[in-house]
Amino acid sequence: MTSLESPGVDAARSGRLTAGIFDVDGVLLASPHEQAWREALVGFAEPRLFTTAMYQAHVAGKPRLSGARAALEALGVPDADQRSIHYAECKQERLEELIKAGNIVAFPDALRFVQAVMTLGWPIAAASSSKNANRMMQSIRLASGQNLLDAFSANVCGRDLAHGKPNPDIFLLAAQELRVAPAHCFVAEDAPAGIEAARAGGMTALGVARLHDAEPLLASGADLVVASLDQVALDSLAGGDLRRQST
Ligand SMILES: [Mg+2]
Repeated sequence: MTSLESPGVDAARSGRLTAGIFDVDGVLLASPHEQAWREALVGFAEPRLFTTAMYQAHVAGKPRLSGARAALEALGVPDADQRSIHYAECKQERLEELIKAGNIVAFPDALRFVQAVMTLGWPIAAASSSKNANRMMQSIRLASGQNLLDAFSANVCGRDLAHGKPNPDIFLLAAQELRVAPAHCFVAEDAPAGIEAARAGGMTALGVARLHDAEPLLASGADLVVASLDQVALDSLAGGDLRRQST
């Protein structure tokens, strides 16, 4: 079996983790962004051309407008820059409809992992570019009765920042609000742009490859890639190291 670790977790970053930062869409929640982007393409391009691979490579993790522009450019739509504004609006309308219809599910392994990190006593932050993330997380109830958003010690989702992922600003802001140095934070991310952002911010990058898409996450510099957060070794994490369970 091929190991998904990049060639050894950087020793300089080993044994130092004390806090976690979580992307939301694709890490914590199976939210309907990809579906909304695809269905909103009607009138701009053929929706069937908007594949999951294309979404992950060009759109996932980015702020709405830059995601819209990247999608239209990737699909070869003329005047992509100008048309991206309208496309972004159409996507948001479709997303609102899908959210209202209850198309949001939390990944069970993510809820288990968040709970495990909280049990270590570590502060945790939610850091999604999405302006819809807060509302979506509030709709998820934990076993404790609190909603998912309330479980986080800091929340920087949807903040207006000059640069989106792969720029590290959103994660640096999260670390700042956690009052933890970036070098002591891991970032859980499912998109290459987010892995790049984590590494650019000097953080340990945990790639979540739910779509059998480990390769682009490793290529973006992920320290460890797992298909499920259940695969993270919690005993190592308690000691500040990010590793895969040995079994
Ligand atoms: Mg994501």
